[in-house]
Amino acid sequence: MTEAMTSAAPEPAADEPAALELTDLVMHFGPVRAVDGVSLRIERGKVLALVGESGSGKSTVGRCVVRLLTPTAGTVALAGTDVSRLSRRALRSHRRDVSIVFQDPASSLDPRLTVGDIVGEPLRLLDLAPRRQERDAKVGDALEQVGLRRQVAQRYPHEMSGGQRQRVSIARALVSSPRLLVADEPTSALDVSVQASVLNLLADLQRDLGFACLFITHDLAAVEYLADEVAVMYLGRLVEQGTREAVFDTPRHPYTQALLSAAPLADPREQRARQRVLLSGEIPSPTDPPPGCRFHTRCPVAQDRCRVEVPELHTTPHGQVACHLVDADGVGPDVRIPAERP
Ligand code: SF4
Repeated sequence: MTEAMTSAAPEPAADEPAALELTDLVMHFGPVRAVDGVSLRIERGKVLALVGESGSGKSTVGRCVVRLLTPTAGTVALAGTDVSRLSRRALRSHRRDVSIVFQDPASSLDPRLTVGDIVGEPLRLLDLAPRRQERDAKVGDALEQVGLRRQVAQRYPHEMSGGQRQRVSIARALVSSPRLLVADEPTSALDVSVQASVLNLLADLQRDLGFACLFITHDLAAVEYLADEVAVMYLGRLVEQGTREAVFDTPRHPYTQALLSAAPLADPREQRARQRVLLSGEIPSPTDPPPGCRFHTRCPVAQDRCRVEVPELHTTPHGQVACHLVDADGVGPDVRIPAERP
């Protein structure tokens, strides 16, 4: 993985509805404010990476998008249709528009079903291939598409390796030709040795099939490789959003700067020379998020205003940033400290 590989889908028309548009999405579980007002948009055929530490709420966003959860407030629009309040029955006709690949294929595949039945299940449930013969043919095609032989349809998940099982999950997610794929940490439960091949597969499929993708991850190397846009989440809210180049090359939010500075680099010399920000403390509990800027308890440049006033996302030439100290030109603090050279 040396070069960035992003989608080659033709640009969407100006009036085309986004593949996904979240508006002020809120998801509370009792006192836990997991997601607190997230708005984002993914155009057809584009990949948006949603990044942040564990506990930031990014996986909860993914579960709201596929309606495994019904949001507390806000809207989830798939290709222009708000599905956030649809009943189970009404949701059925939108089910084929969006699929999800989970982190751990071992727990997301039913061990009692054959691979063929697992991959064919969406076709059966959505009436996309009611006849067995037709379904088997589509399942075989989907397995080949993810680099598996058609014959593995007869096997059970426990007879396969972790990497093969994740390929089965991807085949199941894509067999119904969704317009949007939610990939929730799709490689983080896999051996390091197979992570790159599964990531390459996702990148190839995304480019060839042209689906939009909400790529939820804390693996910043994967983001750099796969994403067109990046949105950074901290404690239930977005703190920065922009093109991959803008966020990686000129991060404006102190949290984004810290997150990027903590990602390991392949080259040990670059790693030694890079600027680091050491964040103190853990991410606070979403049950009782800090007032004002939620990052103020860990921000090296926090001021009095930050402890009381919530910073809204505002637009700069580098994308959108939620920090009181970043002005409309995108000029703000740089909390990275040059590393000591030997
Ligand atoms: S608003 Fe204040 S506390 Fe929040 S990131 Fe900006 S400087 Fe830090």
